[in-house]
Amino acid sequence: MCKKIVIAIDGPAASGKSSVAKNLAEKLGFTYVDTGAMYRAITYLAIRKNIVDDVDAVIDLVKNIKIELKFENGLTRVFINGEEVTEHIRTPEVNAKVSEVSRIPEVRQELVKIQRKMGENGNLVAEGRDTTTVVFPNADLKIYLTADLDERATRRHLEYQEKGNNVSFDEVKENLKKRDTIDSQRKVSPLSKAEDAYELDTTDLTIEQEIENIIKKVEEIKAKKEMQN
Ligand code: C5P
Repeated sequence: MCKKIVIAIDGPAASGKSSVAKNLAEKLGFTYVDTGAMYRAITYLAIRKNIVDDVDAVIDLVKNIKIELKFENGLTRVFINGEEVTEHIRTPEVNAKVSEVSRIPEVRQELVKIQRKMGENGNLVAEGRDTTTVVFPNADLKIYLTADLDERATRRHLEYQEKGNNVSFDEVKENLKKRDTIDSQRKVSPLSKAEDAYELDTTDLTIEQEIENIIKKVEEIKAKKEMQN
């Protein structure tokens, strides 16, 4: 039996991590762990409960809820205490607060525990900001995905437009910039490129080219693992 394979992908906001991770997971038949969806779910609930600016209340919340991710037919569905919140976690309101919630060390501790548990049983692709450095530091393949800010803002703006969400390009760009700053400057588990991560700049690549690039690396890893067995 081949040992399980863990692929971890980190990078700034809207660099294409989730499209790539989802696509890879589907092609390879791996589990997909969207760690950002978990930070978003907590943030959404904290906003709904009107406690998002109260750090102690947010910590209490994260310690007392059950978060689940279900990856089905190329889609990640997100549940809190059994209630589906998938449609509510990618709004401008959540975008505006999620990096504040994510910088709380106790929130990270709780979510990292869940993420590692999801990785116990099989092959997986995880993506976020600290999956290559903190959550799965021994991942078989680490990728740092980047793209320039204007390209990232253009892609995210288009996604909003497709959903009928009326946010301006400048607002989208400002939010990405602000989140990147907070995410990379926070004290606990900041976004950074792991030393052994393979950096892929996707500014001028199509998703197919990105996937092709990564699948090649996965094949090399599989072959190496089989030789070791
Ligand atoms: O990946 P996504 O843009 O959905 O992540 C939303 C936010 O969640 C990020 O801006 C960051 O603040 C936080 N996050 C994090 N660590 C992760 C994944 C996401 O802090 N591993």
